[in-house]
Amino acid sequence: MFHDNKANRLRKEILARVARAFFAEQPDDTLNRIPISMRPKEAKDSSRCCIYKDRAVVKYRTMAALGYSVENETDELKPISAYFEDALQRPKAAAPVLTVIDVACSACVTTQYSATNACKGCLARSCETVCPKGAIEPREGKAWINPAKCVNCGLCMKACPYHAIIRIPIPCEEACPVGAITKDPDTGRETIDHTRCTYCGKCLRECPFAAITDLSQMIDVLKTLGSRYTVAMIAPSIAGQLPGTLPQLITALKAIGFADVVEVAVGADETAVHESAEWKEKTGSGDRFMTTSCCPAYIETVEKHLPDLKPFVSNTPTPMAYTAAAVRKINPDAVTVFIGPCIAKRVEAQKNDTVDFVLTFEELGAILVGAGIDVQECQEAPAKIAPSREGRGFAASRGVTAAVQAALPNGTPIDPVQIDGIDKKSIRQMQQWATGSCPGNFVEVMSCEGGCIAGPGTIGNPRIAHKTLRRLCDESTPLTPNGTACLISI
Ligand code: SF4
Ligand code: SF4
Repeated sequence: MFHDNKANRLRKEILARVARAFFAEQPDDTLNRIPISMRPKEAKDSSRCCIYKDRAVVKYRTMAALGYSVENETDELKPISAYFEDALQRPKAAAPVLTVIDVACSACVTTQYSATNACKGCLARSCETVCPKGAIEPREGKAWINPAKCVNCGLCMKACPYHAIIRIPIPCEEACPVGAITKDPDTGRETIDHTRCTYCGKCLRECPFAAITDLSQMIDVLKTLGSRYTVAMIAPSIAGQLPGTLPQLITALKAIGFADVVEVAVGADETAVHESAEWKEKTGSGDRFMTTSCCPAYIETVEKHLPDLKPFVSNTPTPMAYTAAAVRKINPDAVTVFIGPCIAKRVEAQKNDTVDFVLTFEELGAILVGAGIDVQECQEAPAKIAPSREGRGFAASRGVTAAVQAALPNGTPIDPVQIDGIDKKSIRQMQQWATGSCPGNFVEVMSCEGGCIAGPGTIGNPRIAHKTLRRLCDESTPLTPNGTACLISI
């Protein structure tokens, strides 16, 4: 689902203000004034109880944009500029990658079912008769659900002929496929269990109060520009994210200070070639099926929730890993920055020595705004190495399957199936495939429905992004069996 709402715009605005402050000559005052300038006394669109709470939320969001969580606050009087100074000094961004801003979490009600004004107080009272706990009570001639007795079975909602009973979900808990986010019984606020979290980012997208946020590595990257050989590695899902063409974006990134720019789609070619060979070898020696390995949220899901599936996961490195290894091979001192749609990639990067930092497209957009660069005004940079059509196609669901098929010798029989978006149902399905039978012998898994073009760090409408991606793929050379990838020539 495409999420363009005021909560997401607030996040973008704060990231852009932080980036602007970085490029400013005197950032301290600008940074410290962010909460006041974004929430002036006369602000009318507050969703909080008062302007001061609003400002506190903006302050914590600004801290997250600098890479610090609420838990990092030891002194409430510490100004934002001091966190900025700390960020400039730290050698590496810290884990975890996600945090809940407790003052922003509105402590959504735990009651799941509620009788609305649509209740007619009818004679039948089907809701009352169907309730196994006697939780429906009459109040002023209408049904009222006693939260102390309700067990959230939902029978009353199904029984009401007027659809007068509704289910009120807790959006983040509803979105989480693995039950990793739950209410603290004392504060009523949500907390993330990092032993269960797969960093899929679904809760972050769904929270209507923007209380869940990722900890940005923007400052960590910006401070290397100009002083180190920093290489931007752009994910294939860049298609349709920003105005302007890909060659124009390369020029824009170099104008910001990146020493070089490479397309991760070239690494995707490499992944396709190796993954097809691995699949052939494994299924040839009796394995029932093999799954893809490029989605880190899926890998976290297997590690933490589907251990039976582990033997079936491909060992082939991801496009990001191949690209970073190739960059480091040419320049061992290069600072490698993956720029993509994904929060879980930050976790993959923490486990991979060749990837230094991960930025989302949302952060890239903020940096361009902060640096005052309009991609559409930039000259087109000449492409040094062109990825294949299939390498670029990794960005959308079914793309990895198409690439693996293209890399196999013509006529190789392969029976692919897809998991297009990880949810509770597909997790049950994958568990059955691991322990029972699988309907195919090659399983592509994407945590985000539609693939990476709909990832949590994207800013473009996935429908438009998909069209742009298709156009870009159509202009690219097809991948041939054994592959055309040659990362060494980057
Ligand atoms: S990032 Fe995904 S797995 Fe983690 S708490 Fe949020 S929805 Fe659940
Ligand atoms: S589908 Fe793509 S964006 Fe979504 S979690 Fe997986 S790798 Fe990340």
